[in-house]
Amino acid sequence: MIKTEYREIKAISTLPKRVITLRTIDCGKMEEGDSEPHGECPHCGALGRWIHVFLCDDGLIYGAMSGCIKLFGEAPKTKLAIMGEKAIEKEKASARDLDYRGKKTPVAKWFIAVLDALKDLELGNITLEEAEKIGKTEYFKRAEWLRDNGYSR
Ligand SMILES: [Zn+2]
Repeated sequence: MIKTEYREIKAISTLPKRVITLRTIDCGKMEEGDSEPHGECPHCGALGRWIHVFLCDDGLIYGAMSGCIKLFGEAPKTKLAIMGEKAIEKEKASARDLDYRGKKTPVAKWFIAVLDALKDLELGNITLEEAEKIGKTEYFKRAEWLRDNGYSR
């Protein structure tokens, strides 16, 4: 029998699970003369450049760098997460259009509603439960519109 040299830990992480990543903060790249990157991981304090800001299933917003974000498990995809991810993408695309074409592409009202819900949640104006409810309502509004306009069956 082979003697194992280490024990495997199978306990599930006690950290809350990630619902959605809201944004990534650039703490600046290293410049000549810098010995370390400028950012500090909110989770472990390690130095680095990028801090991911994400909402967890306890309704709170956390920050961590790429290595540590993986320690937070992934929560099952809710309607808020699905709509939120699309909304964040649309908002980014709209801002890019403004940069390149000088004209903002309008963002659909259900995405605006979800972005507002995420902001309100971050500000503590609403609970995660309330935000999930908005996510669900807007998800079905969009689904209905897509169906009625022949984009889906
Ligand atoms: Zn860390």
